[in-house]
Amino acid sequence: MEGQIASHQEWSLDTPVTVLKGLGSHKAKAMERLGIRTLGDLLYHFPFRHNWREVQPIQHAPHGEIVTLRGQITGRPLSRWYGQKKSRHAVTCIVDHVPIQLVWFNRNYLLDKLRPGVWVHATGKWDGHRLQLTMEELSFPDDVRREQEFLPYQPVYATVSPLTNKGLQKMIWDLLEQMKGKIDEVLPPQIREKYRLVSREEAIRAIHFPADKEALRQARRRLAYEEALFYQLGLQLRRKQIANSFQRPPRKIPHPEVERFIQKLPFTLTADQRKAVDEILADLERPQPMNRLLLGDVGSGKTVVAATAMLAMVKAGYQCALMAPTEILAEQHSKTLQELFREERVSIGVLTGSTPTRQRQELLAQLRMGLLDILVGTHTLIQEEIQFRQLGLVVTDEQHRFGVKQRESLRNKGVYPDALFMTATPIPRTLAITMYGDMDLSVIRQLPAGRRPVRTQWIRPKQFPQVVAWIQQQVDQGFQAYVICPLIEESEKIDVQNAVDLHAQLSGQLKARVALLHGRMPVKEKEQVMEAFYCGKVDVLVSTSVVEVGVNVPRATVMVIYDAERFGLAQLHQLRGRVGRGSAQAYCFLVADPKSAIGKERMKTVVQMQDGFAIAEQDLRLRGPGDVLGVRQSGEVDFRLVDLVHDQVMIEYARRDARWIVEESPGLLQEKTSPLYQELVRRGYGEAKPFD
Ligand code: ADP
Ligand code: MG
Repeated sequence: MEGQIASHQEWSLDTPVTVLKGLGSHKAKAMERLGIRTLGDLLYHFPFRHNWREVQPIQHAPHGEIVTLRGQITGRPLSRWYGQKKSRHAVTCIVDHVPIQLVWFNRNYLLDKLRPGVWVHATGKWDGHRLQLTMEELSFPDDVRREQEFLPYQPVYATVSPLTNKGLQKMIWDLLEQMKGKIDEVLPPQIREKYRLVSREEAIRAIHFPADKEALRQARRRLAYEEALFYQLGLQLRRKQIANSFQRPPRKIPHPEVERFIQKLPFTLTADQRKAVDEILADLERPQPMNRLLLGDVGSGKTVVAATAMLAMVKAGYQCALMAPTEILAEQHSKTLQELFREERVSIGVLTGSTPTRQRQELLAQLRMGLLDILVGTHTLIQEEIQFRQLGLVVTDEQHRFGVKQRESLRNKGVYPDALFMTATPIPRTLAITMYGDMDLSVIRQLPAGRRPVRTQWIRPKQFPQVVAWIQQQVDQGFQAYVICPLIEESEKIDVQNAVDLHAQLSGQLKARVALLHGRMPVKEKEQVMEAFYCGKVDVLVSTSVVEVGVNVPRATVMVIYDAERFGLAQLHQLRGRVGRGSAQAYCFLVADPKSAIGKERMKTVVQMQDGFAIAEQDLRLRGPGDVLGVRQSGEVDFRLVDLVHDQVMIEYARRDARWIVEESPGLLQEKTSPLYQELVRRGYGEAKPFD
């Protein structure tokens, strides 16, 4: 091949894979498609499993199972032919002094190889009654040229034609031979010692060609830690970079005024709320912009925490923006803030897509002049050309998806306000520090005292009439109910139809004012319906899952969720959190008929658990991160080895170590030639430049 480096002495992990002998352009293209460009990529193309081919003594070979036996061929094969193409062959083989029959179909070329005297490792289904092994795989332990085949554990790779599993095995085996002693360690020695991790070279060799199961386990442990650590290093460096990118003049929060506000609240803050407030206030006084995630259960009282932070900033002379996912929620937030700040001199404005142009112009002018302290709007607020006079804090509420990129768009505006993000649902801590590891974390776990758990029941569709009766009874007492319809992501049309049908059905059955809400309705109309429900002019709201998260209707005591098995557990918990916000006992009915054991387990989880964090963790165990975060988001945490469910402790350690490296031992990253830094670049985290 052109430009080929003659000697493998000069090869490094960054050398293009095309230097390998026999890698024609077809195979090179296939490599590309597997994401393999360099020799390092090839070595990090880990097998997704191993075929364990541990040779078994024949006495222990279980009848009917796949086993590997080692023996010597005696005699000549016996063949039967069926037509031109099909054939069945059998040959006698002595295994542990027992003569057995090796049987295989077609593959006529094996006839030549299985000559008397040859030793074989044969893998296949064992028939212990007839002493017969139907071969699937075969290898020849005496063939020293194909040493990797001698191993009892065959790696199985993701592959693309014309590459083959065997071919990849051979290439990686040979490459490991040639790179002996040249795969440098990248982890600091302190860390390797602390966790007793095997060396990088040993780990890479063993993850492909382990000597035994324990060696594979150790290799995986080392490489998974490495993966988690570099991921966290990327995040922590970005975090530091953001912090260093902008230093503002000192800022003074008028604490006495903030305390007075907190004292005058109609309730006492919970310990977790208080801690979150203190963490945020401390951030606000630091010379670096805040970048904090407020993680809390539904109904844990995140709003008042954010309100306190905004008040502190307003009193310090800054403006704030509060962004909500929907217009309805923006409106409601503005009302809540008006209420909370009734006795404070704080001016609040709402800006949404449906604000009339004239009013909008007026608001924007006030904002520019600094006459408006707090602007409430939807998430698009920050993308618009809005000028603040002195923007100090941006709060983002109920955000389901705020990927790193979205978070950055805030800063790309060239302003560096402090940023507080509030989650819509609890996320297991492991996921939070993985997804949002570049942020600081405040967690509100406990709910305000005196909350009565929502009584939750799982019922079958045929029991629905009981639910209807229950709704009627609650409505008669002056309470309200939500009925949520199936969620079929692919087809909004069907969603709407379901909601329309259910609305018609319930309107007929109930003596109540029943209204309909779905995603296809014009914004204005949606708002009117929601407003009517909010004011108590509607008793029962039939809705697709567009029911605005976070909306607070204290007189709503019933939540019925149809086809509940279609929802994620976190979502069910979130929906359930819409009721039980007042002092009356609230009820939630999950109408579902799940067929699978996991489906049933999931329904029971929501019935039994009220703690959103525990539910989210259970969901993570039952269905994996894709379902907890939403598939799109989980793409951002696409690890090769790290397992978000099983490696939780390790992820936690990796994060701590990454922080330690970035904050306390930057020497480890200081030089561009340091192995740690080079590996960071190799893994694509190089944009988080530790030097600039
Ligand atoms: P979420 O965290 O889901 O956004 P909210 O901020 O909407 O929850 O709060 C839910 C309800 O709890 C609100 O009506 C709020 O006034 C009330 N609340 C908040 N904090 C407390 C507290 N410490 N004690 C009692 N009620 C509280
Ligand atoms: Mg909220």
